[in-house]
Amino acid sequence: MVQTSPEAVPQGPAGVKGSIAEKAAKPVKEAVPIVAVTSKTTNLAFSKAEDVGELMNFLASDELQGRDTGSDGIEQAAAFIEKLFMENGIKPYFETYRDTLTNIDQPAYNVVGFIEGTDAELKDEFVVIGAHYDHIGTKSPVNGDTIANGANDNAAGTSTVLELARYFGTMKPNKRSIMFALFSAEEKGLLGSKHLAAKLKEMKMDLYTMLNFEMVGVPLVNKDYIAYVSGYERSNLAAICNIYAKENLIGFLPTAKEFNLFMRSDNYPFHMEFGVPSQTFSTFDFTNFDHYHKVGDEVSLMNFDHMASLVNKFVPVVEGIVNSQVREIKYK
Ligand SMILES: [Zn+2]
Repeated sequence: MVQTSPEAVPQGPAGVKGSIAEKAAKPVKEAVPIVAVTSKTTNLAFSKAEDVGELMNFLASDELQGRDTGSDGIEQAAAFIEKLFMENGIKPYFETYRDTLTNIDQPAYNVVGFIEGTDAELKDEFVVIGAHYDHIGTKSPVNGDTIANGANDNAAGTSTVLELARYFGTMKPNKRSIMFALFSAEEKGLLGSKHLAAKLKEMKMDLYTMLNFEMVGVPLVNKDYIAYVSGYERSNLAAICNIYAKENLIGFLPTAKEFNLFMRSDNYPFHMEFGVPSQTFSTFDFTNFDHYHKVGDEVSLMNFDHMASLVNKFVPVVEGIVNSQVREIKYK
């Protein structure tokens, strides 16, 4: 654990940070990513509110018409995600980034990329980081607005995954392989994740854990943790996260258990297929946001500072999880 903590990664970008000052007189080699040094030392500098804002302002724009599965709007979102994967060194896992759903009667695609692990043995193990990028499209008008923009649900989770993809795609500090999966048709009944989980199971993927992000656009209020995880009591995931985060990042939300949120997002099909810890992180608790599945789920209500901060807090968590020598996260 210590070896993969943010301060003490023995190899890769952080390992060379001391040498930069020593070699100040010499030209810095291309292989020394300045951004990595900044993010490793301050741990809050990678994702900024403006970065998150740029993603959110596109994904939740009226132009995308609520990103309903099969629509022109979600097609634009898919193309946007593919472009970001390409720009950030994320490779397609399949022939292309598109994973065509075979369980729905409409053109629908998960967008799937991956970063191969750096360790000869651990690279065969995968950590899937996911979020659904579809939403419910349009609804009957409220004050003339018909577009359910789905800013919190789930442009927010999508942006979080895209920011993590940008970090890991640029730094590549992962011994295990990481798959980034943006799911379609979640709102139709978890269809995208059902399709992908079954397909990966069929391909015999060695899945360590699936970490999913849902509705993280608005902070929790009066809690002593930053986010909760669905299925909290089923595994030690929250405890492992908090060790790597070095703070009480993940807590238990009783409402999540009461409403069985564990079964209500894209982690669930992975749990069913693989039986390995597959859980969803969220900062929506049914009291801090009034626009769930309504036309009022607008980007103007999102807190980009909170979102960027959450990304930065998750960077050392994901680094710890993808680099640990043994599989620490376990179901109880
Ligand atoms: Zn939803």
